[in-house]
This record gives sequence, structure tokens and C-alpha cells, in this order.
Amino acid sequence: MGKFYVLEGLYGPRQGIGKLKVLKELADRVGRRSTDSYDLQGKCLDEWSKKSGGMGEFLFRRSADIKKYQLIKIQNLVSNAFKNVPFYHDLYSACGYEVGCIEKFSDFERLPVVTKDHLNSVDPRDRVNDPDLVDIANTSRTSGSSGKPFTVYSDDDDIILDHLQVMRFYSTSLKRPLQENDWVYMLHHSGLAFSSLHGKYRTFQLPDLLPDTPLGEHLLLLRPRLIVTLPSYLPLILKHKVAVKMSGVEAILTNSESSTHAERNYYSMALGVPVLDEYSSEEIGMIATQCAQGQYHVIEDGVYLEIVDADTHGFGSVVCTDLNNELMPLIRFDHGDVAKKSSLSTLCACGCMCSSIDEINGRRDDAFLTRDHVVVPSASVLAAVDDILITPDRTLRKFRVVQKSSELVELLTHYVGQPYKKMADIVDDFEQRLSCLFGYPIQVVHRDVDVFPMQKSYKRRCIVREWGVNALCH
Ligand SMILES: [Zn+2]
Repeated sequence: MGKFYVLEGLYGPRQGIGKLKVLKELADRVGRRSTDSYDLQGKCLDEWSKKSGGMGEFLFRRSADIKKYQLIKIQNLVSNAFKNVPFYHDLYSACGYEVGCIEKFSDFERLPVVTKDHLNSVDPRDRVNDPDLVDIANTSRTSGSSGKPFTVYSDDDDIILDHLQVMRFYSTSLKRPLQENDWVYMLHHSGLAFSSLHGKYRTFQLPDLLPDTPLGEHLLLLRPRLIVTLPSYLPLILKHKVAVKMSGVEAILTNSESSTHAERNYYSMALGVPVLDEYSSEEIGMIATQCAQGQYHVIEDGVYLEIVDADTHGFGSVVCTDLNNELMPLIRFDHGDVAKKSSLSTLCACGCMCSSIDEINGRRDDAFLTRDHVVVPSASVLAAVDDILITPDRTLRKFRVVQKSSELVELLTHYVGQPYKKMADIVDDFEQRLSCLFGYPIQVVHRDVDVFPMQKSYKRRCIVREWGVNALCH
């Protein structure tokens, strides 16, 4: 919703049909999410008007209150999962759990950590609290960063709550809260659950940003208050620096890929607006978001976050408990990322009482490079894999995508059954998507293998560039 109006109404023929076409072609590739219905938009709008005040205040609650809130949520979540979800019933029975035995966080932290592999090893019906809902629930099936497909089921309430948390983050990133008639400009392969809420809080989405995208002109016409993007696109956005400033953009938010404080500071200075990062995942939703002071504050009304097995520098595995997904509970879920708990001993100057993390070192996939050494974000490649290989298929167990040269990409797969359509057609689709991202024809060669070749130190990576190793220019 909204994109047609923007292109036809604001980006009219006066601007030149050529440029219009470039934007329209890109914007048309955005699919509508199944959640993006009139009915759910309405519910979400209603909830926002009821809850936004209280959700804003939550961030400034006393630490002890936040912890109390989380403990009650966790107690209910664990007890319901034990009663109604076979996966957790078996797991917790085996370690001697009894209903009511979680009185404090240290009790909870004795429960076993679960992984994607672990959850994937059981039938989807055994990891939800109502097997009848598996076929009708909202699903997201993604590759994640490990190259192993995984499906998460969630109900409408969870989808709405996740969206409200996104809106709260947007609001707190701006000088004054998000207004009904504001536009959010998404340069991102993945859109929000809702493209607008009955025409309010609208988003405009381009799935990729290409060197010839007339971004600056469009920003000046649309005048969004926020840009949401991948860190990989910051160098391209910088080319539209004047338009960013003149259009009234107040902040740029990044997610989906790792970026460093130094990188974001550089672009923040160069563009004259804050560049704030969000740490989130398809499985959990928002995990932590950066405040104006640069701290990553954990979204403590959405997730209970632990850093376990920390090394001497404080880096450890991110283990998350989603406090709101009751349909498919993710309890002490090892995220596969590494992060460092904040050493901050005093209250953050922004006033937020939620706990914080210093640095996130997960998801460090390689970016692909075009023959002109322009970065093709790993998140965009992963999105192509998700759309073409993962979402429609249940028989793909593992994959790796390797850039062999400026024109050649190798796709390694491990299928445990027939793919959903002819492999040659899948490879064709993938080739087309990559060619679009690179801006010139890319050849994809495919191999189905039982065992993946060992990689030096990158065992977990599924996007690998073996070409132009030292060519990355940021
Ligand atoms: Zn802060």
C-alpha cells in the first residue's frame, strides 16, 4: 500500500519517465506480506493508540520493575511450554523440571539451551502449543546466517506486538515521536509486517539500492523522516548526501548485517544525521536497539537476553527467550551470534533502564563484490536465497553460496528429497535475481553435495567470497 500512490502521484511524469521506470521496477519487486491485511492493520493501529504511551514509559522503568515483569513472563512461558509443547515437555522432563520450580532467574538459567538444529529435529507440530494451528499460523522460514533453514510460527498478537516495538524504536530515534502522516523510507529487502496502518505511518520500500537509483530526487519528493537500510548501502546513500539533508531525514536506522561503531559514526558525521543500529532476527524480532548515546539497549519487554560462556573479553553466545511468542516458544534459544555485555556501570545518559550490550559480532558474512568492486550486501543475497530456495521448499537442508569470480557464483545445496520444482528452473531464477543485484549477467553453477567442503575459519558461514579477497572498498 502506498507505493503506487507515491510513484504515480508524487513522482509524476514531470520527473522523466526513465527515472520513474527505474524506481517503479525496483518497487514492484516488493511482495506483499501475508500479514499486511486491512484487518490486522486496523488491530495494530488500535493497539498502538492504546499501548504506545505505556510502551514508551517501559524503557524508563526502574530496573527492578523490569526484572520483575520479565520473571513473571518467563514463569508463565516455561510452564505453558512444559504443559502444551511436546518438545519442551520432553526436554524439561529429562532434566527434572517441575511446574513452579522457577523462582528466580538463576533457576531459569539452569534450563537447557536449545538450538535451531535441536528444534529442527522434531516435527513442527511438536514445537507449538496447538498442532492445529501449524497450517494456518503466520510463518517465517528463513536461512538465517548459518545456512540451515528454519521455520518460526507465530500468532497475530505476536506479529502486532513486534510491530509496535518497531514503531517505538522509530519514535525514540526521532526528535519528536513518529506522526501519523510521516513516511518511513525502507531501502531493504525485507519490509515490515505492515506497509501502513490504514494509510497512517506509511512505508515506502525499495528492495535494493543500485548505483543508478534516483534516490535523492525521490527523497526530496517524499520527504521521509526516517531511512531504514542495510549498513552495506550507507556508501551509496552518502552519494545522495545533499538530498538526505534537504529532505528532512532525521535519522538512518540499520539492521540485518553487522556494522561497527566506527563505520556508523563515519556515516553519521558525513551525512549529518544519527545512524543507529538495530539488532534483530526473524526468529525473535527486535533484540536490542541503539539509543542516541550509542548503547544497544535490550528490548526487555520482548526478549530476555543472556550472554553465556563469555570469554575473558566478555564476548559470549547470545541466548534469547522470546517473551511473547506463545504459539512456538523460543526459550533459551542460542542465536548463533556472539555479543559482549555492556560494562557500563552507571545509568545511560538517555535515561533508559534496560540492560545493554556493547558489541555484536555475529552475522559476519562476506559481501559479494561486482567487477567494479561495488558491494552486493550479503543480506540481499540471503534474501534471494530465502525467496527462491528456502521459503517454497521443505527438502533443502543446507546451502552455501560462493562467489568464484566477478561473473561466476557457485550454489552448493544438500537436499533430502525432491526440490519443489526443476533444479534448472530454480538455478535460472537465482541467476536472474543475482544478475539484478550485480547489474550485469551472473552465471550460477549448482552442485548438490552430501558433505560441504571445509572452510578455514568460517564454518558457520553460508555466503562466501573467494574472489577479490583484498578488494573490499568501503
Ligand atoms: Zn541509552
